[in-house]
Amino acid sequence: MHPFYTHCRQTLDEIRAQGRYRIFTPLRKSVERFPRYLWEQNGKTREVVVWSSNDYLGMGVSPVTLEAAVEAGRMAGIGAGGTRNISGTSPWHEALEAELAALHGKEAALLFTSGYVSNQATLATILTSLPGWHVFSDEKNHASMIAGMRGTPAKRHIFRHNDLEHLESLLRAAPADAPKLIAFESVYSMDADIAPIGAICDLAERYGAMTYLDEVHAVGMYGPNGGGVSERDGVAHRVDIIEGTLAKAFGTHGGYIAAAQEVVDFIRSCASGFIFTTSLPPVIAAAALASVRHVKTDHARRARLFERAETLKRRLREAGIPQLPSVSHIVPVHIGDAARCFAISRQLLEEFGIYATPINYPTVPQGTERLRLTPGPFHTDAMMDELVEALRAVLGSAVAKAA
Ligand SMILES: *Cc1c(COP(=O)(O)O)cnc(C)c1O
Repeated sequence: MHPFYTHCRQTLDEIRAQGRYRIFTPLRKSVERFPRYLWEQNGKTREVVVWSSNDYLGMGVSPVTLEAAVEAGRMAGIGAGGTRNISGTSPWHEALEAELAALHGKEAALLFTSGYVSNQATLATILTSLPGWHVFSDEKNHASMIAGMRGTPAKRHIFRHNDLEHLESLLRAAPADAPKLIAFESVYSMDADIAPIGAICDLAERYGAMTYLDEVHAVGMYGPNGGGVSERDGVAHRVDIIEGTLAKAFGTHGGYIAAAQEVVDFIRSCASGFIFTTSLPPVIAAAALASVRHVKTDHARRARLFERAETLKRRLREAGIPQLPSVSHIVPVHIGDAARCFAISRQLLEEFGIYATPINYPTVPQGTERLRLTPGPFHTDAMMDELVEALRAVLGSAVAKAA
């Protein structure tokens, strides 16, 4: 037996012993009844209300995206059939890039096969360009940004989450003439908090650093046109590179960056993760284009998302269900123990037909294990009633203590 097989087994045993073994729940989204999904178990089909989807605005089931995809598919087929350079650029890809550049007020934008790839490929390409890069990374940055920074010759400095003083002390200590980049997110989806983008741009200006902002959990939702928190705060023009996804609030698939023309052209010409992979399927590019255009003007959908989030926070508060602080559309319910968090999530699913993802260490600090709820425009008051009742039942004594 090759030693790698033994390694696999031993590692999996350890993962199981630590309670970190991943079990997927296959769920079929229902176009007609979203956020209800169908759950098949032991030959039986049950309807489950999902409270943890990143299809934040329900655009993934909207006739806007569905019809655009079907129309494009009937015209151009499913797969792109090539990289962007080898017959894989369709008019939808080009129109989508122009639309995304406009959304963020940038000269250009570039599509990638996912948000993960856009972060990984862009950061890796930037940080292996000039000699002597110093990159300043928020400690809560997403794995895809970390993947892009790791393995580059850049010197990495990790600053405490959203801590401007710590960031400034690191910037001050770095060589004045070194090329610098600050990499951070706007909405941190596990912590439900938001970065002080303007103040980080002030520091970047003072110390001659570029800024790289992941707006994955904000695009489509924040700002008057869904341009993200940088649009909401009126600071998008101060951020050098804005990165986003088409797979969350826009309900489709793919990632992108938006930046100055020469930056986008450089990444387009040099990033391996952009060049050597088949481009997004035309059906997806067409659906994403329709989604971005629609969401820009669908202010009611955005308003409804935030109204639902605030209503859920209030309902949980009134019921004495412990929450972690949130200044965003994400509602974290505090559990505080990994095993309990898993068990509660499972119980909600099996007994109440409610799906809520458990978030455990190492994603969040020990003692802050939580259920991450993401209410959307289609979660009704009746669904909230059921959720609150179910949480009350499963949390039992903990709720009584908190109340
Ligand atoms: C989900 C996520 C990504 C990756 O985006 P995908 O399009 O899902 O690959 C990047 N950054 C953050 C912060 C994310 O949560």
